[in-house]
Amino acid sequence: TAAGLTPCRDIDQLRARLRGQVVLPTDAHYDAVRQLWNGMVDRRPAFILRCATTEDVAEAVTFARGTGLPVAVRGGGHSIAGNSSCDGGVMIDLSPMRTIRVDATTRTAVAGPGVLLSELDAATQAHGLAVPSGVVGHTGIAGLTLGGGIGRLARKHGLTCDNLLSAEVVLADGRVVRASAVERPDLFWGLRGGGGNLGIVTAFEYRLHPLGPTVLGGLLLHDFARARQALRFYRDFNRAAPDEVSADAVLLATPEGPMLGISCCYLGPVEEGERVLRPLREFGPPAQDLVGPVAYTALQTGLDDLFARGRRFYWKSHYLHGISDAAVEAMLARFAEVPGPPTLVVLQQVGGAISRVDPATTAYGNRDAAYDCVPIAIWDDPTEDERNIAWTRGFAEAVRPFATGGVYVNNLGEEGEERVRAAYGSNYVRLARLKAEYDPTNLFRLNQNVRPAA
Ligand code: FAD
Repeated sequence: TAAGLTPCRDIDQLRARLRGQVVLPTDAHYDAVRQLWNGMVDRRPAFILRCATTEDVAEAVTFARGTGLPVAVRGGGHSIAGNSSCDGGVMIDLSPMRTIRVDATTRTAVAGPGVLLSELDAATQAHGLAVPSGVVGHTGIAGLTLGGGIGRLARKHGLTCDNLLSAEVVLADGRVVRASAVERPDLFWGLRGGGGNLGIVTAFEYRLHPLGPTVLGGLLLHDFARARQALRFYRDFNRAAPDEVSADAVLLATPEGPMLGISCCYLGPVEEGERVLRPLREFGPPAQDLVGPVAYTALQTGLDDLFARGRRFYWKSHYLHGISDAAVEAMLARFAEVPGPPTLVVLQQVGGAISRVDPATTAYGNRDAAYDCVPIAIWDDPTEDERNIAWTRGFAEAVRPFATGGVYVNNLGEEGEERVRAAYGSNYVRLARLKAEYDPTNLFRLNQNVRPAA
């Protein structure tokens, strides 16, 4: 273990100790390495420590602590708030840690903290297995898992964090420990939803589920003029649908004007899916029905280009218990003023297996929600920043009267302590106590920060 190491301020000494690389602002590839997913985030760390092993991470934590500088931890780099980088501090970059081991016999997989969702899907689908994750392939598993993890399999098999079996963690003092239901169960409780607050996870062990390789899925597109009826029908359909159905509604700005999309799939035999999804596909009927048998891995990467790295993004979110008629009206009225393509609003379905877990089982809060309403502005021209941000904020404000008051921690921007509390609800106090135990000096604070309890 790394216990007992002393901070080495000398960068050459650190270089010699790391299997990975130290990247400095003077290095030619500095700009490429520091770049995160969101083009709106442009931060310049003083040191980027590209870790290759758990020992590297322990060295990096010890070094970073010794500098007294801010510490950012980067997995997939998709933080909405840009928390995985910082100006003038130390970025601990886990993206080289990309190994995945699948054990088809025990239906488990162990993945490094630099792994992307599409990589984990490809490795597990090679065995006809899958772990519930998110809906965009280039998202990192690390941040996604630690904050919860909502995606197509969640209503059937739970959140990504509900399928975490164990984790290897580098603590703020540089020690390497394991957390599971039987090893440090308190830490394990906090890792499942608590974000990066308690330590740096260097390996994630997941439970896998049989799936595919082919599922019935795809997009239904309705003209905006029919969106009111279609959205209401979608909502009513979901109330009675089995957990095998995953259906997210999407208000979508296209070059031809706004449209309503329904991104759906059925996690079971295709013929069964044809029967169950039929009412949803027949209603309207939609202007376009792009639903059909499709490889699960293709479905999971179908949105990747829309959310391409380097574009400008601004994001807000509110959990909803349901979609009332009044909420439909508010959303459609606001969406009619959308700045332009490809900005969208996602109503990501939750509930199902997520809601059947006792809220005290993990740190993740808000298990009672039915939808996560997420307006997402996407643009490229920096002179359009203000307009896009203002529209997104306005949309979120219009939805707020219909919201639960809770929010998904992984969809938070820089929104202040109150919103972090709203993400954890009744679990906040326990998380703050764990924070005081595992990270009393708040070394890991560039995240949706839970302050150590006094
Ligand atoms: P990073 O920016 O690397 O990290 C995010 C946070 O986690 C940072 O605070 C970082 O310090 C911390 N962190 C990262 N790695 C570690 C680690 N190993 N140990 C400790 N702390 C760590 N979420 C869903 O649930 N479902 C979705 O379908 C979904 N779709 C998304 C699509 C896009 C295009 C984007 C940008 C985000 C999406 N999200 C979704 C939200 C996503 O879960 C978060 O952005 C998540 O934080 C991404 O993880 P990351 O490793 O890529 O991010």
